[in-house]
Amino acid sequence: MIETPDVINQTTAIDSSFLPLPLRPLVQLSWNYWWSWSADGTSIFRDLDPDVWDECEHNPRELLARTSDYRLMQMATDPGYVEQVQRLSQRFEQYMAKPLARQTGSSQSGRSLISPEHPVAYFCAEFGVHNSLPLYSGGLGVLAGDHLKSASDLRLPLVAVGLLYRFGYFQQRLRRDGWQEEHYGETYPEQLPIHRILNEDGTPLMIDVLMRGRAVHAQVWRADVGHVPLYLLDTNITENENIDRLVTGHLYGGDRQTRIVQEMLLGIGGVRLLRKLKLEPSVFHLNEGHSAFLTLELARELIQSGLPFTEAAQRVRERCVFTTHTPVAAGNDEFDSNLVTRAFGPTYEQELGLTHEEFEALGRVNPKDSKEPYGLTPLAIRMCRSTNGVSRKHGEVSRALWQKLWPESTVSEVPITHVTNGVHAPTWVAPVIRSLYESYMGGDWSDQVRDKVRWEQGIAKVSDAELWAAHSLLKQRLIAFIRQRSFHARTERGESMQYTESARKMFDPSALTIGFARRIAAYKRWNLLLKDPDRLLKIIDSADRPVQFVFAGKAHPQDQGAKLTLQQVAQWKYDARVQARAVFLQDYDHEIAHELVQSVDVWLNVPRRPLEASGTSGEKVAMNGGLNLSILDGWWLEGYDGTNGFAIGSSAEGAEAGDVDASDAESLYRVLEEQVVPLYYERGSDGLPRKWISMMKRSIVTLVPEFNSDRMVEEYLRRIYS
Ligand SMILES: *Cc1c(COP(=O)(O)O)cnc(C)c1O
Repeated sequence: MIETPDVINQTTAIDSSFLPLPLRPLVQLSWNYWWSWSADGTSIFRDLDPDVWDECEHNPRELLARTSDYRLMQMATDPGYVEQVQRLSQRFEQYMAKPLARQTGSSQSGRSLISPEHPVAYFCAEFGVHNSLPLYSGGLGVLAGDHLKSASDLRLPLVAVGLLYRFGYFQQRLRRDGWQEEHYGETYPEQLPIHRILNEDGTPLMIDVLMRGRAVHAQVWRADVGHVPLYLLDTNITENENIDRLVTGHLYGGDRQTRIVQEMLLGIGGVRLLRKLKLEPSVFHLNEGHSAFLTLELARELIQSGLPFTEAAQRVRERCVFTTHTPVAAGNDEFDSNLVTRAFGPTYEQELGLTHEEFEALGRVNPKDSKEPYGLTPLAIRMCRSTNGVSRKHGEVSRALWQKLWPESTVSEVPITHVTNGVHAPTWVAPVIRSLYESYMGGDWSDQVRDKVRWEQGIAKVSDAELWAAHSLLKQRLIAFIRQRSFHARTERGESMQYTESARKMFDPSALTIGFARRIAAYKRWNLLLKDPDRLLKIIDSADRPVQFVFAGKAHPQDQGAKLTLQQVAQWKYDARVQARAVFLQDYDHEIAHELVQSVDVWLNVPRRPLEASGTSGEKVAMNGGLNLSILDGWWLEGYDGTNGFAIGSSAEGAEAGDVDASDAESLYRVLEEQVVPLYYERGSDGLPRKWISMMKRSIVTLVPEFNSDRMVEEYLRRIYS
């Protein structure tokens, strides 16, 4: 734990007396998300009562509260189970007992070195730590969750700040005609493994921010992610007016005005929270521009203590770093100036010692152009000492996109660098694959995940038959999952008896299985695959070399075009010949992502270049032995080497969008027909696809040591934070 003065991290004590003695260690485990990436963590909670586990969205606190007394006693008197609980609990205590790292030496710039007293403060609008904490919408949040876990594993002193959304992101359901409907579940903090932060006198700690002319109060929760505390601001309290209680209502669901006050709460409220916790971070990391207002709050503090704005801004810059994730100008957060004026009011500008005009100029590319909207990316770039994209290509794209902020520089001189995204191996690797890694690379394989030589030596020892057997088991699990989910979805939609029943037998565990799960956004080009339906049908409907597709993904609630695309995909699978070989799993989330990335043979990605900033799901697939079939964009442009997966199209520049779509579709079909399908079905006398398996091994050995979040966090520490 990060040591902080007493008041501060005070929370209500954990009570475990409601459980039989042998099971009491489960209570402490349930309060720290460490269990979710430890070997056996999931299975130990699930085994307590698998039905309740599924009913409560894999939330262990709920599980412990709802499991029947009789079941608890059965497990408490099962020596095998109790021993597992003890072992997990010991491993947790060992993990937490290791002290956090501390940078030694002296800092030249006068900034403080990173230490438990001066941690990295990591700000993000969404965090995808686990399915039971629904505070994320997709890639950005899951990446942030993986960042925290690696920071914890590496013992990097880091605290995280985000918002506790009462309704989170929407849950997706498809109507019978394939149209997407959105549902919002409510999050009840009392049921989650999160502590309310209290003052010394036991009252809830409160943060106030003046927004829209009213003081808005937020209480604060803390989720523990290993060593990393994740603080979550929450305005849903009776002291606030109803509209202000909804500031932390929906993630990306509200209007522009809600969005700006959310971002004020995150940035300004987040800094005020850290002050109340008596934390003096050495670095503030703005993960995407949503938290950019934090730089204004840091400046305001300095100005209140007597510095002029320019000097204060200089000091703020020394402590702030910014990661941009958006390769298109339109994707960056922008606000009309009247929205900014209304949300902030005059007081804040005065406290910054700025005129209204000067205040607004901070968010413009051209400070003098009063018609320009207020952009959080220009603000963040201006107020941070470092800006980075999330892959090499995205670094390049960002330099071109934001060169206008450095009119004196050429594009290549623009000081924007990149740190390629990676994913957290212990979170994403399936238990059966993990156990192979443990056998051949040692129990500490995940601590050494960046060691290339160890991967080469370890994977060389795994036999083809063993790797194939593990992968085939995972595929069988996936197909059972697909059948179960489809059966329920069809029942819920009131589909015909025959169609509903057919779900029980759909899909073939021996057929080549391709996963395609991503947001339904124009640049992800969902329609590319369906460009020539007859040709595609030929590929999937082959009698001796069948191919099956699993789809998943959400359309933004306000994106009618995306919903139409989804409807087309959903209706395509009503074609009788397609039905047996294509399925859409609704409500793509952390859990479905786990099922898919651990089990598919091939992971397809067809973004329009160069709009995939990085992408991370393909990295999760590689860790599990799956192969990538992707456009050369984002991380795959760095990862692909000709032997470790498949490339669609070329990496050449130019050509109009229409032409690119046509030629990329042609390339996709050709690679499927000429490379992927033949290689998968080329079997030896023992039935093993030897060449395919050797490509799986190449994929693991070349990609895992590079595209993991330990490498990413370590690179942030070395190149960006320090
Ligand atoms: C990993 C992950 C993503 C990111 O996937 P990309 O499409 O590769 O960016 C999105 N959603 C979930 C649930 C994930 O687990």
